[in-house]
Amino acid sequence: TVRTRIAPSPTGDPHVGTAYIALFNLCFARQHGGQFILRIEDTDRVRSTAESEQMILDSLRWLGLEWDEGPDVGGPHGPYRQSERGAIYAQYAQQLLDAGHAFKCYRTSEELDELREARKAAGLHLALKPADLALADEEVARREREQWPYVVRMKVPGEGSCVVSDMLRGEIEVDWAQVDAQILLKSDGMPTYHLANVVDDHLMGITHVMRGEEWINSAPKHKLLYEYFDWPMPTLCHMPLLRNPDKSKLSKRKNPTSINYYRRMGFLPQAVTNYLGRMGWSMPDDREKFTLDEMMANFDIQRVSLGGPVFDLEKLTWLNGVYIREDLDDASLLQALREWAFNEDYVSQILPQVRPRISTLSDVMPLAGHFFSGVPPLEASSFDGIKLEHETLLKLLQFLTWRLEGVSRWEKDALLEEVKALAEAFDMKMKAFLAPVFIAVTGSATSTSVLDAMAILGSDMTRARLRHAIE
Ligand code: ATP
Ligand code: GLU
Repeated sequence: TVRTRIAPSPTGDPHVGTAYIALFNLCFARQHGGQFILRIEDTDRVRSTAESEQMILDSLRWLGLEWDEGPDVGGPHGPYRQSERGAIYAQYAQQLLDAGHAFKCYRTSEELDELREARKAAGLHLALKPADLALADEEVARREREQWPYVVRMKVPGEGSCVVSDMLRGEIEVDWAQVDAQILLKSDGMPTYHLANVVDDHLMGITHVMRGEEWINSAPKHKLLYEYFDWPMPTLCHMPLLRNPDKSKLSKRKNPTSINYYRRMGFLPQAVTNYLGRMGWSMPDDREKFTLDEMMANFDIQRVSLGGPVFDLEKLTWLNGVYIREDLDDASLLQALREWAFNEDYVSQILPQVRPRISTLSDVMPLAGHFFSGVPPLEASSFDGIKLEHETLLKLLQFLTWRLEGVSRWEKDALLEEVKALAEAFDMKMKAFLAPVFIAVTGSATSTSVLDAMAILGSDMTRARLRHAIE
């Protein structure tokens, strides 16, 4: 039976790209009467967080993309979290070492830099091959004796080329010269993506690997690993990446990429899922509006077009409006509003913000209305009270927006640190620095605490508001 999977790394906000790839994997599996698996690839212990994993699960479920096996629902091939499978990877790495398909590499990072520099100076390809990395036998013995840290790397051919087939792209040929002796186990014993991914896809019985095209370059290494292990290789399918309207790769610099944003903004999950289904794919009759069930029933991977699909916020907004007008009666609209923001979870985050400032209940909306809106309308005069030159004001908001892109733990104390550091760089007092931020984020000079608001609104919504203020 067909088995597909989505294998997100829980290192940040849940990405619309993850939902898009999940959707196509799910449809492919269902259309063949197969199964769809969710596996968490959290081998990067520094960047992975439990919160991010939870957000990914919540977001996919919100969109209606249900999995048959996964870390939360279990299944016969668990655990479904790579951090819990360390012993398995160590065993398979040892198997490769024993068979001579991999080697321990004691090179230090300084030595690696030198090797790369030397190759660059000689105008050679930057991939480091086993022969480049080799040390004299006695040096290896010494480092081993002295217990230097080492990594396990896979052996790769020095010449010739590798051909991998892709369901949508046909045969792709890559010169082995471009492929380096990939690290499989890091010095802390954790596997890299490549080893863990191949081992798990095999052990979990994955038959079709459908993922973003950014992974094409990894395919030769994976193919080689399947050969070393003598395992059948799953069929590969590299999906076109989502694009900004200017055709560049969809990125959070230019567009909200977090599913949290689309939720906070009040999009309906069925509209977002429908729109993602239009990314490079169409129904046989080309209709724009269809349900997930209809997509599964009509799915055909060969109708995926490779021209980069544009994720266009305006089109999504249009489609969402169609759903609201055509599909929701008053009762379901009320229900949608409750699920969106008039729910206990959200409102209870806002109450502590307004309580100290209100005398009547009707004071709440003027203060907290921005929690229930998208991007607040601003005018040139909105910033009148701010005693800053226009240029400085723009610079301040722009620098803050850029800085916030890198924040991985989106909580008030972390945000405070960022703002503090930037205020210092601008040589401004916190209060003065925050004044324009306050207006940009909450839409008015009288509102709730801006840092709390940012924490509650989330990264993409906050940055969307800042961006809007700059435009
Ligand atoms: P950004 O450029 O916005 O920072 P990113 O590339 O850093 O995004 P990652 O955190 O690396 O995002 O990716 C998270 C997941 O989303 C990955 O599984 C990746 O394959 C997927 N993804 C990222 N960008 C796209 C895209 N443009 N189209 C489809 N999937 C994407
Ligand atoms: N963990 C990888 C990611 O975050 C999975 C890539 C794959 O599907 O092989 O996208």
